[in-house]
This record gives sequence, structure tokens and C-alpha cells, in this order.
Amino acid sequence: MIQSRMPATPSVLVIDDDDDFRSVVCDELAHARYDVSEAAGGREGVRRLEQTDVDVVLLDVQMPDLNGREVIRAARNSGVRSEVVVMTAYPQLETAVECLRAGVFDLLEKPVAPKALLATLGHAVDRSRLQRTTALYHAAAAVFGARNPEDLPQVIVETAMRALDADDASLMVPDGAGSLTIAYSKGLPPEVCRATRLQVGAALLVGRRAGLPRCAGVRDDSARVRSSIVFPLVTADHLVGVLNVNRAQARKPFREADLELASIFASQALLALENVDLVRRLLHTERLAFAGRLAAELSHEVNNPAAFVISNLEYIAESLSSQRNHELRQSAVEALEGARRIARVVQDMNRLLRGEERPPALVDLNGAVRFALRMTARQLEGISLQSSLGTNGMVMGDEARLGQVFLNLLVNAAQALAGRPNPRAGVLTERVGDQVRAIVWDNGPGIPRRDQGRIFDAFFTTKPVGMGSGLGLSISREILQRHGGELSVESDEGRGSRFIVTLPAAASVN
Ligand code: ADP
Repeated sequence: MIQSRMPATPSVLVIDDDDDFRSVVCDELAHARYDVSEAAGGREGVRRLEQTDVDVVLLDVQMPDLNGREVIRAARNSGVRSEVVVMTAYPQLETAVECLRAGVFDLLEKPVAPKALLATLGHAVDRSRLQRTTALYHAAAAVFGARNPEDLPQVIVETAMRALDADDASLMVPDGAGSLTIAYSKGLPPEVCRATRLQVGAALLVGRRAGLPRCAGVRDDSARVRSSIVFPLVTADHLVGVLNVNRAQARKPFREADLELASIFASQALLALENVDLVRRLLHTERLAFAGRLAAELSHEVNNPAAFVISNLEYIAESLSSQRNHELRQSAVEALEGARRIARVVQDMNRLLRGEERPPALVDLNGAVRFALRMTARQLEGISLQSSLGTNGMVMGDEARLGQVFLNLLVNAAQALAGRPNPRAGVLTERVGDQVRAIVWDNGPGIPRRDQGRIFDAFFTTKPVGMGSGLGLSISREILQRHGGELSVESDEGRGSRFIVTLPAAASVN
């Protein structure tokens, strides 16, 4: 849970070299319940401001070491954003204009009447806090206003950079394979982007100077970065991402006030990311429900006409004597086969999308593999196929559903190999302990790491319209999970892919 720490008590730093005046003012302010600190000169004042954040600085103009103007310049250079109220015994037009230029909130004439002092300070505190709230409001508006969910990482990164005045920023998200990769970054050198890949659960902060251990997966960037804020975006039960903002060496470091701002912004970013995820999941469920209804209707519309087409074709094929009408009979037999396939596909689709199941039976996994190899024989033409089907592959399940899994995997392999030199693919089954494992592999183009966590998502496809629905792997994984098993992938880009099916071996043959 990310918490913000916006202090309730207003804080003020009084910088004045006149000890008597300073102590009177400090007493006055402490009495009015301000959190008061003091500095007896310009240099000390700047040092204090660099160490702690205050809402308002009450600043004398004439001081022997650094005068008021110099204090303001030095403080702003160090990233101090507090409001400044200037006090002077000689308020001339010139001083007033200078103060205005330097962004000073107000100018008070010494000796300052307590009432006027408190009124001015009150307004300055309000403005200081309002400015922070406004920055957060703008940040929230940008993040929640992102039109396209795909753009959200970019919006989060750019908004964080603006709100925190950072030199570079990045958002890392889990890739589904146990690692974090950069979803979007701005200002980061390309070699850092390329080299940044973290194991989930590994330490995140790096810094030679901070004496922290260097962390695997992150290029040592401490020569370039002066200060970093790294925020894990976590919900009650999982890591949604990691937000990182940096300031370069030549710049002022982040301060505590920036950390507060970052923590509030991070909770907004988390909320926005979660919303997008929720909408995506809702759409997925909605689409699947719709596909189920569609399949039921389609099955109904197709089955009746298919049934009489099939029975008529059977009658025609039987009636045509094979001697005299050979060609005609052959055509009828082929048409019959085609019609039966249409009916089977539609029924299968209906059963699958409506989740109809047959009671589990003792099944030889090799039977399901052989069925899929038969069905894909045509697609696999021209591919050098190596199958090695081991013994002891009995599992409890639905052979048709398991066949469907291998069908999807083999069709994917064939599509991945299309047009590639020396295409090779294979299926291997084996018994490993109390599991039965099957591997479907190919030497195709492989799957980029960034896609590996998404290929099992419904409707995720990299194939052109009409070629892929993006449902094959998600349905396959669902089928296997219903059987108590799992589907996973190992793939090297450019070297091929291995899809690994694991299922519990049937108890009776253990
Ligand atoms: P579809 O094949 O309809 O796209 P899938 O769910 O079966 O849907 O696959 C999703 C995506 O996974 C594919 O679009 C492809 O990018 C990738 N993919 C699946 N199998 C392979 C493979 N053997 N080689 C390379 N990429 C693959």
C-alpha cells in the first residue's frame, strides 16, 4: 500500500541575521502552531533548505553573507519549491520588482505587524499546498484521461517526468514469464533499455554511492544518474509494475517532497493500470460469452441442413454403381466427406466454446497426438517431422479435447515454418515421474520475449486477419488446466519454439 505523507502542520523557515528580530518572529509563529526552524544567515538558510522541506521561507533581504536574492537563486537551483515571503526594512520599487521576478509570494515591511505576518504566511502555505495538489491533479487527469489503454505506459512515464522534473523515467511491467521488462521509457540511453531485465522479487535499487548491492539485470548506471526514485506498484496480491524516475548527475537530487509527490502519483498510476486490466478482462469474458452464443446458433443453423445434405449424399453415393459412374461416385464421396467435416467442425466449436465436456476416461496421450498429426498432415507437408512417442502415456481426460490441443500446436508450428529454409518440427511424449509430458517443437522464427507472456491471452495474435483468431493457445491452456495440467513455452527468437504440455499420469498405471 502506498501512503502519502502530506504534513498537517504548516512549516516555516525564518532566515534573518538579526537575532532579536528572528527570535520574536519565531516565538510568534510557534505560538500560532507553525513548525518553525531558523537560520542566522543566508548560507545556513540554503543548507537547511537543502536538507528539509518547508512550506514557506520567511527571508530577510540584507544579510552579510548571502543576500535574499542570492538565497532564492541558490535554493531554486537545488530544487526547493517552497513559497518565499521577503521581509525588508527598505521596501523600494526596485526590490519589489526583483522579488516579483524571482517568483516571491509577497513582500513585507519591517517591523512586521503580527497580524499581517500570520495572514500572509497563511496564504503562502495555502498556495504552496495548492501547487502541489494542482500538479497531482494534472498528473491524475493525464493518466486517467488516456484514451487508448495501449498508450497508458507512455502517458504514465511522460506525466511522471513532468510532475517530478526528471531527466528520464521508465515503467517496467511483469512479462508473465517471471521477469520485468520496460513497457515504456523516455530519456534512457538505449543500452540501458536493452540491458534492463529484472527477475521479479530481485532487489531493485542500484547505487554504488548508496552502498547498495548492484542488482542483476540492471546496467550500472550510477555514472549517469544522480538520484533515483523507484516505486513498486503493488496491489494486495500482485506486482503490477515498477515506476522509476531519475535525475542526471548534473542536476539537483530528488528531495523528500518529491518522494511524497511520487508516492501519490504512483498510487494513481497503479489505479489506472488496474482499471485497464479490469476492462480488458471484462471484454475477454464478454467476447467469450458472445462467441459461445454465436457458436450455439451457428451449430443449430448448420446441423439440420448438414444432416440432410449428408444423408442425401450417402444415398447418391450408394446408388451410383462404381463401374459405370466412377467419377461421379468419387465426387459424391468427396462431397460427403466435406459435409461431414463441416458438421464435425461446427459441433466441435460449439462444444468447445460452450464448455461441454465428456466424462473423463482413461486416454493414451499418444492417441491424441496421432489424431492431431493425421489432421495436420497436409499443413505439415514439406516439413521434416520427427516424432518420438514414448510409452506409459496414459492420462484421465477427454481424448477429443486433448487432440485439439495438439492440433492447435501443430498448426501453429506449420504456420511458423511457412516459407522458412530447412523447416523442422517434432512431437515428443514421455513419462516423467508422475506426469506425462509432451513437447511440440519447431525451428521457426521463435517468439519475442515481450510476447511470450501474452501468447496465451485470448485474441492475442500476430497473424494477419483471417489467418489467426488468437484463440488457439488460450483454449489449449484452458483445456489442459481443466485436466489438471499446464501448457508452457520456451522460445528463443530466431531459433524456434517448444510448447510443453504436462498432465498428471493416470493413477491406475502409476
Ligand atoms: P493464432 O495462431 O490464431 O494467432 P494462438 O493463440 O494459437 O493464436 O497463437 C498466438 C500467437 O502465438 C501467434 O499469433 C504467434 O504469434 C504465437 N505463436 C504460437 N505458436 C508459435 C510458434 N510455434 N512459433 C512462433 N510463434 C508462435
